[in-house]
Amino acid sequence: MKITLPAEEWAFLVALVQRIKTESAALGYVTVTEEGLVVHDLFVPEQEVTGATFEMDKTSVGKIAEENRVKKGLDIGDIRFQWHSHGTMSPGPSSVDAGNVVDLLSCSGTWLLTMIMNRSLEYTLQLDVLKPHHARITGLQLDSRDSRVEEAIRRVHEERRVGDWRGAPRMLGTGFGEYYL
Ligand SMILES: [Zn+2]
Repeated sequence: MKITLPAEEWAFLVALVQRIKTESAALGYVTVTEEGLVVHDLFVPEQEVTGATFEMDKTSVGKIAEENRVKKGLDIGDIRFQWHSHGTMSPGPSSVDAGNVVDLLSCSGTWLLTMIMNRSLEYTLQLDVLKPHHARITGLQLDSRDSRVEEAIRRVHEERRVGDWRGAPRMLGTGFGEYYL
């Protein structure tokens, strides 16, 4: 099964992990194709963050999901990708991360892709399937990075995708977002 993260989305995550001092988290939609899974339309909901934790605001997630439904026709049920950063630490999931997967699965119901990335761009990617019983596939790899990734990263840094950021970070501690904008 191929799991694809398009260049622009990859660049967006690289910008998040490398330019924000604290942890940060993002969600995304997953489309199932004949070849596998494609992750797209990543977004950053409001969240409270510290150097080692994040907590997403569910109201903000709902609001963005509704905007995406109206503007882009995206189905809230396709939000099956969750991502967060681990700074300079190992990208292995913590016990808190494992609990978050169970929480999200109980909302989304069937399956969920989870990715954790650190500043060196090491990552872990896992798929959790709830039914018929909870199964976890770890050690997944993204399909070979798109050759346009470097270009996309450069563009993201230039444009800074401010529209995706404004209002998203709730300043706390070291100041999520202040580093970037
Ligand atoms: Zn974590």
